[in-house]
Amino acid sequence: MALHAELHRHLGGSVVPRVLWRYFERHRSDLTSQFPDYGAFEDFYTRPRKTLAEYLELHSLVESVQTQEMLPYFIYRLIRGAYIFENLAYLELRYTPYLRTPEHLPMGERIDRMAEIVQTVGQASQVVDCPIVTSQILCMHVKLPYEVNRAIVKLAAQSGDYVCAIDLAGGDDLYGDRLHEWIELYELARSLGLKTTGHVYETPMGQCPDLLPLLMRIGHGIQIPLQYPELLPDLARRGQCLEVCPTTYLKTGTMSDLRELKTVFDRCFEAGVEIAICTDNAGLHNVRLPFEYETLLTLDVIDFEQLEACQEAAFRHAFAWPHSARPAAVLGSLFDRKIPRDRVSNQPLGALG
Ligand SMILES: [Zn+2]
Repeated sequence: MALHAELHRHLGGSVVPRVLWRYFERHRSDLTSQFPDYGAFEDFYTRPRKTLAEYLELHSLVESVQTQEMLPYFIYRLIRGAYIFENLAYLELRYTPYLRTPEHLPMGERIDRMAEIVQTVGQASQVVDCPIVTSQILCMHVKLPYEVNRAIVKLAAQSGDYVCAIDLAGGDDLYGDRLHEWIELYELARSLGLKTTGHVYETPMGQCPDLLPLLMRIGHGIQIPLQYPELLPDLARRGQCLEVCPTTYLKTGTMSDLRELKTVFDRCFEAGVEIAICTDNAGLHNVRLPFEYETLLTLDVIDFEQLEACQEAAFRHAFAWPHSARPAAVLGSLFDRKIPRDRVSNQPLGALG
């Protein structure tokens, strides 16, 4: 069994529609009453949106119920599903802690409450009967003031047990006016020893060349191979990895057909830029990680050998995976010991594709 690493998953988009519906039924019947039945809700929740901005609005629906008290409820279900249905051995969960604090409180108090949120998420992620190595990425948010984003970076640096990195999210068309702030905050993060990723070059509006050197991984970044392939050698030189989340591009209207991703993969492989395949919002999409893999294979975007390379890259670029090899290497050594070499098929994976 292959065990996988997921590097790009938002807490707000990780609740599958059935779990959210059950929660609403029990606690927020005002929200279920807007839909005649579950099917209508699932359709509303998972249907494609016209733009990234419209798609991101859905996050606020989930954020509103992911309060500190309810976070363990949702995270337990998330971890259980990831372990049982997705074979995850490693999961980085990302979110903006400020947006889980009570909205009615003044800004300073909300900032103070963020540390409790990080602790709650960290503790809830450790599920004894579903052992997955987890870590958190705290997202700065483009719609939050500088002071809050700076506090998020500082909190990330102080929460080494639970947090591995920072991110910038909220819509890549809005970064431009405050670019100097993002650069300063990423420089601060690097100086504090944090790992970095950021949502850039996701849509055609998301170009941020000045931010690129500060990122260790690139959230999406698909517009680089599509529109600015001349940047790829720099990415390869810096060892930066793209976090490609296929279904997202259909849901945000960025692509109309996932075959368009073939250019992304081909150009990255050619330039030596590694790609980790991720889900972004597995719950919102109702698409789990193994199905992202399968879709890319079915559409001939990649072959088995390339899939294997991407799965290995995910472990190699994981910010908090504590081992030198991916789990398959450990399982492989057990396999070797039990079955004599001459009885093991040595057909390379690539030959199957
Ligand atoms: Zn994302």
